[in-house]
Amino acid sequence: MIPAWPSKGRQAAMFRDDFFMQELEGNLMAFVAAAIYGEALQECVACGGKTIRFWRSKRFQYTESQNQEEFRIYRCARCHTGFLNRPPHRQWLNSIYRYSGQALTRPISLDEVLAREARFPNCKLDAQRMAHQSDQLNESGNKKALDIGSGFGFYTQALRRLGYRTVSINPGQYENEVFKKLTGMEAIPVMIEDFEDAGQFGVVMMSQVLEHLLEPEQAIKKASGLLAPGGILACAVPNFASLAVKLLGTKDNACLWVPEHVNYFTHEGLMALLEQNGFKVIRVEQITRVPYDSLSRRLGLEGKSAYALNSLVKFMQIPIAWMMNYFGVGLYINLYAVKS
Ligand SMILES: [Zn+2]
Repeated sequence: MIPAWPSKGRQAAMFRDDFFMQELEGNLMAFVAAAIYGEALQECVACGGKTIRFWRSKRFQYTESQNQEEFRIYRCARCHTGFLNRPPHRQWLNSIYRYSGQALTRPISLDEVLAREARFPNCKLDAQRMAHQSDQLNESGNKKALDIGSGFGFYTQALRRLGYRTVSINPGQYENEVFKKLTGMEAIPVMIEDFEDAGQFGVVMMSQVLEHLLEPEQAIKKASGLLAPGGILACAVPNFASLAVKLLGTKDNACLWVPEHVNYFTHEGLMALLEQNGFKVIRVEQITRVPYDSLSRRLGLEGKSAYALNSLVKFMQIPIAWMMNYFGVGLYINLYAVKS
């Protein structure tokens, strides 16, 4: 059973209150334990195609102390996008995202996040690349950016360094604490569907967001309403057609990370979602990067030997990643679109 959640203003006050923090953490498992499902879907979440078929089921223990739940994945016959069906109920998903959109089960410090990025530069690189490309493609003259699902703050930071004024929204309390330390600003703790702003933005950033949303089309429509003419919507999602999913099937826990990820987009599906909602897609690319320290960590190496192996893996993956992206089986899809 999920306790009623307090109002947004009250939440923000509570996040700064240690006593409530401890109480909430104690209740976390009770919150996410409520495995309730939403209505069954009759059409594709990406292209609206009516021919959808059961693909595979996946049993996955999504946090350490949870029971395994079975999730059923359907796939669209037209654009091949996948999605959970029935999807988790909104209450269940929101209870997870209140704390983290990245499966954090406890608070994390900025130092830990930066140490992780130093070992394997990932979020920061993606943020710099996407912010830079969005800025180059933004022809609105509007230097205000909306960072939806702002996470630890790397995208907001990258946009600010390019001279943008930013508004950042993110429901996850653990990420928002780090966000505040990294950027010196506050992320608004709401989901996109609850965000209201009368202003216009030259860049709307949605990195690793659409795969989490029960109604991705509503989010795209909302982004459209918030964009200035000539402004850029930048999206990044995991690729359902990736080599990892082809090889591992439902054992893939990156794209097919249930139930946090409810949608699994393909290139065709993401294009259709944008184009059917009044956008013109101007650039799509694939990104593949695997943590090059994973092998050395698995082997328990440290110091110079770890460094040598990490360097080897880092350079060996360049041609492999290039080929994967070229053949459309890269790990992530990045897409940039303007309102048509
Ligand atoms: Zn479809």
